[in-house]
Amino acid sequence: MQQILDGKALALQIKEEIANEVRQHTSRGLRPPHLAAIIVGTDGASQTYVANKEKSSHEVGFTSSVYRYPERTTEEELLEAINFLNSDPDIDGFIVQLPLPKHINEQHVINAISPDKDVDGFTPVNIGRMVLGEDAFIPATPMGICTLLERYDVPTAGQHCVVLGRSNIVGTPAANLLSRKGVDCTVTLCHSRTQNLAELTRQADILVVAIGKPEFVTADMVKEGVALIDVGIHRIADETRKSGYRIIGDVKHSEVDKLCSAFTPVPGGVGPLTIVSLLQNTLKAYKRTFKLK
Ligand code: NAP
Repeated sequence: MQQILDGKALALQIKEEIANEVRQHTSRGLRPPHLAAIIVGTDGASQTYVANKEKSSHEVGFTSSVYRYPERTTEEELLEAINFLNSDPDIDGFIVQLPLPKHINEQHVINAISPDKDVDGFTPVNIGRMVLGEDAFIPATPMGICTLLERYDVPTAGQHCVVLGRSNIVGTPAANLLSRKGVDCTVTLCHSRTQNLAELTRQADILVVAIGKPEFVTADMVKEGVALIDVGIHRIADETRKSGYRIIGDVKHSEVDKLCSAFTPVPGGVGPLTIVSLLQNTLKAYKRTFKLK
């Protein structure tokens, strides 16, 4: 039987679990967890992502704050804002919404975030801890992918997992997490210099696609029975919709889904789990703050 890895439904369930835990802590007189976000500029997609994170924070009983800065903000000003959030004891974790304007060096900014508040899991300290298998904040999207596989009981041990894309925020950490002890996939990590890509993707028992190219993966690139995770998000014009657009992924679902044993829809697959992972990381930071189990 084919399984839809329904990220929307699973996210609702996990949010309920988080909300219950928050209620337990606040009923004992503790303040709620606090997630903050910094956003620079007016990029439409970034505004939507931050608004969704804010909405989800409220749904689980967190406090949330958004610090908005104009496009012309300098790197120094942004680093000052980060230092301010690093030292605010009422903020458990914060994110800096990417991408940043071109005149700001993203890595300088990420490096300035306190590893203890780095709920996106992007700082070198957390990436290093993750690779060593130590306690760490795990980047939200790969963490969401692992949660989907685990909660939907997709077998991973000994399975050949092919990851398409090696970005620092998705492909590379996903390859690391999926090959960890306990998950135990045999991982092949592909990128733009990979040769005979389709030959490799056709060997995948689990295929994770994060290359940022609309409907790149087609039916001839997968084997029957593959478990498919489509991370891609693309907004394309669609005049038949009230919104004027629709969301598609990195996979051509109209032809690939019927071949899969399990697949994530787009939208409603990985996206909702990315936000939930951020909430889980914030709860973890909060519990560290208050030394809760
Ligand atoms: P990215 O930084 O653009 O990285 C793309 C990766 O794909 C790179 O490693 C690149 O290889 C590789 N690639 C590009 N063309 C390729 C080709 N023809 N064959 C093989 N590999 C190729 O992308 P990202 O940030 O990881 O995001 C990927 C997608 O996921 C985007 O659509 C993004 O919007 C989406 N996304 C979704 C979520 C979510 O919550 N659902 C979160 C994050 C991102 P090189 O390294 O060689 O250049």
